[in-house]
Amino acid sequence: MEHNDLIERLAARAALSRAAEDAALRETTALQGQKPWAIVICCSDSRVIPERIFGAALGELFVIRVAGNVLDRHQLGSVEYAAAHLHCPLVVVLGHTGCGAVGAALAGESGGFIGYITDEIRLAIGEERDPLRACEKNAAHAVTRLREEFAGHPEAGVARIAGAVYDILTGELRFLKD
Ligand SMILES: [Zn+2]
Repeated sequence: MEHNDLIERLAARAALSRAAEDAALRETTALQGQKPWAIVICCSDSRVIPERIFGAALGELFVIRVAGNVLDRHQLGSVEYAAAHLHCPLVVVLGHTGCGAVGAALAGESGGFIGYITDEIRLAIGEERDPLRACEKNAAHAVTRLREEFAGHPEAGVARIAGAVYDILTGELRFLKD
C-alpha cells in the first residue's frame, strides 16, 4: 500500500470515528475541561488499548504510552501534571503478556534508540527469564519507582499507585499484589 493511501485510510477512519463519538461529551470535555480519574502508563503495543480495556469514554483516562511501559522523566512529568493539575489521584502501570519490548530485553537486544528501553527493562527484571514474570517485574519496577519519586512530592497529590498485567490472548486484567 502506498503511503498516501495509508494517510487517506487514516483520514477516513478519523471521519468515521468522529461521527460515532459522543458529540455532547466531546463538547463538554472540550469546553469545561478534562477530569480524568485514572492515569494509565502502558505499552504502545497495538493490542493494548487502555480505553477499551477499562471501557473508558472521552475524558476518563490520562494515558501515557511508551513501548515496554518504561518510566523516565517525561513519564514522571506527565504523571505529575495529571495528578497536580487535573487532580487525578490514581496511577496504574499496565504491563501485558507477549510484550515485544520485554522480549527484546530478554533476548539481550541493546543499542540504538531501543537500547534506552531494553536497558531500563533489564534493570527491572534482573535475572528473570520467564516472559510473564518478566512483564510483571517490569510493571512492578515502575510502580516502585513512582512510589519512591512521589513520596518526596506529596504536594503532587498522587494517592494510589498500582501495577497490573493485561493478557492479550484472553483479555483478562490482573492487578499485581503490592
Ligand atoms: Zn509491550
